[in-house]
Amino acid sequence: MITASVLVLFGIGLTAAVILAVASKLLYVYEDPRIAQVESVLAGANCGGCGFPGCAGAAQGVVEGKAGANVCVIGGDSVAAKVAGIMGLDFSATEKQIAFVDCTGGVRAEEIYQYQGARDCRAQHLLYSGAKMCPEGCLGYGTCVTACQFGAISMGPNGYPVVDPNLCTACGSCAQVCPRGVISIWGMTARITHVNEVNDCLAPCRQRCPGQINIPRYIEQVSRGDYAGALETIRERIPMPLSIGRVCPHPCEGVCRRGNVDEPVGINMIKRFAADWEMNSGTRLPITCAPDTGRKVAVVGGGPAGLSCAYFLRRLGHAPTIFESMPKLGGQLRYGIPEYRLPKAVLDWEIEGIIGLGIDVKFNQFFGKDFSLESLAEDGYEAVFLGIGAWMNLNLRIDNEDAVGVSTGTEFLTKVGLGVDTGIGKKVVVIGGGNTAIDAARTSVRLDADVTLMYRRTRDEMPANMDEIIGADEEGVKYLFLAAPTRIVTDDAGHVTHVEYIQMELGAPDASGRRRPVPIEGSETLIEADTVYTAIGQKPELSCLYDDSGTCTLEETRWRTLGADPDTLQTALPHVFTGGDMHTGPALVITALGEGRKAARSIHQYLNEGAPHVPANMQRDMIDYTMFTHVPDVGLRERSTMPHLIECDERTCSFKEIEGAINEEQVKHETCRCLRCGLTCYNRDLAEGQTCDAEECLKNQ
Ligand code: FAD
Repeated sequence: MITASVLVLFGIGLTAAVILAVASKLLYVYEDPRIAQVESVLAGANCGGCGFPGCAGAAQGVVEGKAGANVCVIGGDSVAAKVAGIMGLDFSATEKQIAFVDCTGGVRAEEIYQYQGARDCRAQHLLYSGAKMCPEGCLGYGTCVTACQFGAISMGPNGYPVVDPNLCTACGSCAQVCPRGVISIWGMTARITHVNEVNDCLAPCRQRCPGQINIPRYIEQVSRGDYAGALETIRERIPMPLSIGRVCPHPCEGVCRRGNVDEPVGINMIKRFAADWEMNSGTRLPITCAPDTGRKVAVVGGGPAGLSCAYFLRRLGHAPTIFESMPKLGGQLRYGIPEYRLPKAVLDWEIEGIIGLGIDVKFNQFFGKDFSLESLAEDGYEAVFLGIGAWMNLNLRIDNEDAVGVSTGTEFLTKVGLGVDTGIGKKVVVIGGGNTAIDAARTSVRLDADVTLMYRRTRDEMPANMDEIIGADEEGVKYLFLAAPTRIVTDDAGHVTHVEYIQMELGAPDASGRRRPVPIEGSETLIEADTVYTAIGQKPELSCLYDDSGTCTLEETRWRTLGADPDTLQTALPHVFTGGDMHTGPALVITALGEGRKAARSIHQYLNEGAPHVPANMQRDMIDYTMFTHVPDVGLRERSTMPHLIECDERTCSFKEIEGAINEEQVKHETCRCLRCGLTCYNRDLAEGQTCDAEECLKNQ
């Protein structure tokens, strides 16, 4: 009996022990010891600024991979380094983030809603969907200011939030409470790789700029005397403000709303002022780069497109190498555009700053001869950017085009750029109406030649920049309009003596919209010449893409350019990208710089994510509703003029730079002329006839 009871008790005890053992296995909660370790090094303020419920939550977030080493928004770099040490993370790989307010519009946006006393952005948004006519703009009640626990946001003088980058911890509270998405938390990588989206605050100038520069922002920064900030803004889109400030035909100014009042803002003058300010200070502003990734990318061609691509790849942390066929970098900026428009010393200073970021360069390396896509792959380059420009000249297709004394305008300008003998004579005829023709003509004048520029249409149809056409006029270049060459006449030694041309008249418009020149039968005439420069167009030299069997793995378009996806610039080979004149055909420096950045962006995505991509709402064309033709109630203010450094008669015997920069007083005046346009708003607070006083003007902004 006793034995049976003992056995029962033993059985119960055993069962209980088994149940407890199983339960302890099932119910055991493992806590990663790193959570406690991470928590112990955090600041301990339990402020919640990181977005987690207190420091314990933040530590758990780090261990679960939901946050990085810099989770603690008040701990700074020393705390982040300790967290990284515990977690085995690379602290150097973290990038500083900052709150960014992309609305500088304001009091002048139309107030079209009744407020009824609600002084909070979210309440306003819920009740009326917004206070301003602009569909995207800031409501201006400062809910973000109260949301910020670090005192990093305050309301600026114009009623819009201003972020203090030194106090901002990028905790994101401001962005969370903003009902209009005006505030975002951005790091350098995100800013550099951002492309215009239709709901960004895109003033017309910013929409039109092929480089997508945030023009309103840098004008506003210059107006406050923050020249360094302005350059940082510009350099997030292009690496060459000095060069662009001198040679850009500024398409942005063509759509400036100020042009509907009096004249467009001198946007490019303002950019040049800021760029010259840095160069003349003799000190380079720091340019930040993301931590090294060590990923090797080959950039073929060291013109604006290649330089821009290499610069942005470097800023994104990668390791670009430029392969350039010539002995120096710069492409047409060096070998096309003459010294008097862009001094080589200025170009050199600008390029040194780019290369100084840590970009490797290999000179005298000709793609298709010295190296190929295959050899680059063998050498460990994971992606390739092709940007070799458009260096093949179009022929006139007339008799004796190869006579002695006849060459192309670009060959002539390249020789001048290299400083070698050009063999120029005394009587020069330049054939063409674009920038190359004008540059060849004005350069010939400086080499003591008598110059006639022959063009088959009229002055009105000339594709060259108007300033250049006027400049050539002032320097004594003679124009022969409505004239097309029919034959080169030579002496017995085969040297050119004359150009025979036929008179033209303008007929119906052609595909380009310009009136087609039609020859007048029997009007052939001779003009004397010992030197002829032809400048009727260029295209990319794509023979380097073909192998010995005549096969090309990439796509050549019917315009003889390299085919690529227009958004990502990726070619038929996934690891090969392109941009600049090679892709667009002859265009502008700003277009080449813009494409260089877009290609760098795509290459960055290709390396990190396997494929490039663009946002669905990317801005491609001008946004219709932002293009006013009428801007009411804005006072008149005269546009500044770019000063000339040397007088007209001194110019023809000198390659000295012609145009100078406006001074500080003029730049303040010019920034005051900016209407601070956003998507729909603009500043109408400037009284007619009011003289420009920068301080007064700023109070008005
Ligand atoms: P490029 O500047 O042509 O650079 C291409 C680079 O690739 C060069 O360095 C070249 O040496 C290199 N390269 C070529 N083939 C190879 C190869 N096989 N292997 C390795 N490297 C190679 N634009 C303006 O905005 N404003 C102006 O005032 C203006 N004036 C101009 C005046 C002239 C005379 C010319 C010719 C052009 C002018 N342009 C102007 C246009 C502007 O210069 C070009 O649009 C711009 O330079 C294109 O940049 P890119 O980098 O695509 O090509």
